[in-house]
Amino acid sequence: MIPVIGLDELRAARLSLKGTVGLVPTMGYLHEGHLSLIRRAKAECDHVAVSIFVNPTQFGANEDLSKYPRDLERDLSLIEPLGVDLVWNPTPEIMYPTGYQTWVEVEAMTRPLEGAMRPTHFKGVTTVVAKLFNAIQPHKAYFGQKDAQQVAVIRQMVWDLNFPLEVVVCPTMREADGLAMSSRNKYLEGEDRKAAVVLFQALNAAKEAYQGGERDAEMLRSRMKNVLEAEPRAQIQYVSCADYNTLEELEMIKGKALLSMAVLIGKTRLIDNFVLE
Ligand code: AMP
Repeated sequence: MIPVIGLDELRAARLSLKGTVGLVPTMGYLHEGHLSLIRRAKAECDHVAVSIFVNPTQFGANEDLSKYPRDLERDLSLIEPLGVDLVWNPTPEIMYPTGYQTWVEVEAMTRPLEGAMRPTHFKGVTTVVAKLFNAIQPHKAYFGQKDAQQVAVIRQMVWDLNFPLEVVVCPTMREADGLAMSSRNKYLEGEDRKAAVVLFQALNAAKEAYQGGERDAEMLRSRMKNVLEAEPRAQIQYVSCADYNTLEELEMIKGKALLSMAVLIGKTRLIDNFVLE
């Protein structure tokens, strides 16, 4: 599998694909979560395109852009057996050439949760995803529920800007102990790796309470906090029980809700979520 890099090359490769195209945008360092999106796209579309691009504009100044894990050869070997038709691996200069000045920004929905912790993050995400949509023109685009707010924000952007495509959301893939798969799990070593399961445990504690009839959102947030606070390596950034569609914090759960959290385990920042239907 030889990735295309430049825009002209990409256009030629895209034109050669007849029928429906499913796009799986990634930042590489692929794991089973990414592969599950690719398999779903393969099952639902005539052709599958995967982008591998560590998008600099979605990283804040003090974040892990320079040390974000990368291994293109390994990624290509994982993709190879899945029957992917097109891999686009642009450079930052191709995505953002000198003189670049156009940004896509979703408003209210990007302010809480991840947006409160990472104020410039979603502007980078929506801009790069809009550029991927324009360049590849997929019929369907596949995203993981693991990044719940990203899914909500991209859905909003697709609706607001009339992108002629369907957003498909795929379930979160987990390790055997429940830790949500993530390229950043590579940073977790030894005791930190063991402690990282606390996010899943906290979400489960709240889900059990919900299944037992608890509808007071603050009680569910407390449940999650109690479990997290019992793990000395965990430092809470936020714990949320919000409306699934608007992402506004709830008092009482009446419809679909999102339990979500961001937690530092040592120096590694992890996010996870459960949807309550
Ligand atoms: P990333 O490379 O982290 O930007 O992720 C690329 C896509 O894979 C995004 O749509 C993520 O939500 C999705 N993804 C990441 N981790 C998982 C996972 N554990 N299960 C399912 N999808 C995932």
